[in-house]
Amino acid sequence: MVMEIGHFIDGRKLAGKSGRAGEVYNPASGEITARVSFASGAEVDAAVQSAKRAFPEWSRTPPLRRARVMFAFKDLLEKNRDRLAAVIGAEHGKVLADAAGEVTRGIEVVEFACGIPHLLKGEFTENVSTNVDSYSIRQAVGVCAGITPFNFPAMVPMWMFPVAIACGNSFVLKPSEKVPSAALLLAELLREAGLPEGVFNVVNGDREVVDAILAHPDIDAISFVGSTPIAEYIYHTGTAHNKRVQALAGAKNHMLVMPDADMDQATDALMGAAYGSAGERCMAISVAVAIGKAGDALMGKLAPRVRNLKIGPATDPEAEMGPLVTKQAYDKVRGYVDLGLEEGADLVVDGRGLKLQGYEGGFFLGGCLFDHVRPEMRIYREEIFGPVLSVVRTDTYEEALNLTNDHEFGNGAAIFTRDGDAAREFASRAKIGMIGVNVPIPVPMAFHSFGGWKRSLFGDHNVHGPDGVHFYTRTKTITSRWPTGIRAGAEFVMPTMR
Ligand code: NAD
Repeated sequence: MVMEIGHFIDGRKLAGKSGRAGEVYNPASGEITARVSFASGAEVDAAVQSAKRAFPEWSRTPPLRRARVMFAFKDLLEKNRDRLAAVIGAEHGKVLADAAGEVTRGIEVVEFACGIPHLLKGEFTENVSTNVDSYSIRQAVGVCAGITPFNFPAMVPMWMFPVAIACGNSFVLKPSEKVPSAALLLAELLREAGLPEGVFNVVNGDREVVDAILAHPDIDAISFVGSTPIAEYIYHTGTAHNKRVQALAGAKNHMLVMPDADMDQATDALMGAAYGSAGERCMAISVAVAIGKAGDALMGKLAPRVRNLKIGPATDPEAEMGPLVTKQAYDKVRGYVDLGLEEGADLVVDGRGLKLQGYEGGFFLGGCLFDHVRPEMRIYREEIFGPVLSVVRTDTYEEALNLTNDHEFGNGAAIFTRDGDAAREFASRAKIGMIGVNVPIPVPMAFHSFGGWKRSLFGDHNVHGPDGVHFYTRTKTITSRWPTGIRAGAEFVMPTMR
């Protein structure tokens, strides 16, 4: 049965009316499971107007009361973790344990947002001039929008809206059209948690809906997470419309393996970080840089592990990774494997022949492992976003550092070593936003901020943590004097401290 998926506007689920729609797949079977309506301009406007109406009262609601809605939401998320994971697995394809982990990382942002009364405390200076006091506060920005990618249907939206809403903003979310259901479930849980109608809305759709958001005069701030070309477009177009924009983008995360590293630990780390979630993570490791004699030692351990990856549908508790999200994604990733061969890299493990009995229509690609990848190859330079790991060999640490720094992307990077000096030096000199030392996927916790450098982030704010609070609030500074203070009469010169 093919489900019809609409929007969530003004506290209610609504059927889509535009007549435009996209198809949602079960990536394990290849079957169409739903049709998701793409919002019209009028439907986007209805969501924005609902958010605009809700904003004045919500932004004046005491932060502690807003926090209590977040506490109730957190409780509901915990109770619905498995339900959310099942929805994610059904549309994205990732294995259920991984989907539940994504929900947990989202819940951590809600936990952070529960502390909003403390996070919004301002600054006060007594006597900036004689009997004159000054204080700075942070106030909500207004109507905020979120545009999110397919690969974390619950976590990435939760990087954004819990912080935005706790700060007193209202929100319009446009999730990926490939995985629309998790966002609608989150909207229902927020309503159940007591969030007033209009504070959180979901409009589904494609680029036309994004363009309507970018140009909408009543949207004040936009958070985007997705691929680099779209992030750059969102940043330029959104700021040209005078909106505050943060746009997180693509990645090609390197993991340096020093000759002194514990090779078993490095191998385990690479397996999880390169092939978990079928490589469809912005923090996935897609390049291992093996330094000196680490190369042969690493390949000897890695190749058999990649050959023996357990691949299956989301519901298979034994599976380590699932299918790719769509046939289009499958074709793209497979095309990169073909390209790597043409470019002269050694395809040590070829996952292209994988067929799973009973899932012949699914978008499954086996783990692929390239050795002797060189920096000029497109499989090195471009984001593949699939279960394909490229091993580059260098003679020295310095060469490996330069490779990392010269790459267009700068999201995450890791170094595996027992040498504290090397680790410290890498953490200091890498032009990368998030660094792991013997930690392959160094995703910051919710109370720190997440974001990359170079063409992995456009704008100057990371998401969640202190940067998230900053992005979703603006500063107001109040300077006050009472009539009992010094009376200076009319002053025609620039006031200075007395
Ligand atoms: P995507 O860029 O194709 O889509 C992201 C969003 O933009 C979706 O909501 C989509 O509907 C919309 N969109 C797509 N094409 C558009 C267009 N031409 N104009 C306007 N809007 C458009 O990304 P994706 O394939 O859904 O997600 C994977 C990408 O996201 C990868 O590049 C990955 O690295 C990146 N990502 C980055 C981070 C990060 O934190 N840096 C996190 C997760 C994913």
